[in-house]
Amino acid sequence: MARYKGPVCKLCRREKTKLFLKGDRCYTDKCALEKKESLPGQHGVLRRRRMSEYGLQLREKQKVRRIYGIMERQFRNYFQKAERKKGITGENLLRVLECRLDNVVYRLGFAPSRKLARQLVRHGHFQVNDRKVNIPSYQLKPKDVVKLREKSRDLALIHDSLKASEKAGRLSWLRVDKVKLEGEVLDYPTREQIPEPITEKLIVELYSK
Ligand code: SF4
Repeated sequence: MARYKGPVCKLCRREKTKLFLKGDRCYTDKCALEKKESLPGQHGVLRRRRMSEYGLQLREKQKVRRIYGIMERQFRNYFQKAERKKGITGENLLRVLECRLDNVVYRLGFAPSRKLARQLVRHGHFQVNDRKVNIPSYQLKPKDVVKLREKSRDLALIHDSLKASEKAGRLSWLRVDKVKLEGEVLDYPTREQIPEPITEKLIVELYSK
């Protein structure tokens, strides 16, 4: 599936918020958003104006797509899936996104960004419940155990990332064992357990038009 391959800091500037797409760099003063306040492009500063209701909804959807690295079509499929589930659609949508294997690998601290997590999954470094899984969108459920495969246990990137992730703190719906290099989904996350600054209501409104 096609992926955005351009400069990622530009996406943060477009959404005017940190999307944490570059791993450790995002937490330092090298972050592009710490330096520039303008929108990307030559006339970024001039383009600042009050946004319409539709504009706000669209930007929120784009922001979430970019945070999780999802293409439009797949995002819409996730929305339809969330609509069919019981409960609040916006929260269901975030739950589906959070339970993707690449996101869980990132949340567990095995990768410094979702982009790298996706790459690690694609390259077959992880197994779920003792079976190799190399599909980043694989949906995890409670009691699923994500483990680094034997041949990948010495990857410096993963050990460095685990060390760095200690600062960020853990999410209570996940359990990580740094000795066994595995993690478990304890439960589906509640809305309060998803720290991203997202107003999912706007996305529901956008797709309900
Ligand atoms: Fe966004 Fe990270 Fe780039 Fe900062 S360093 S602008 S948070 S991708």
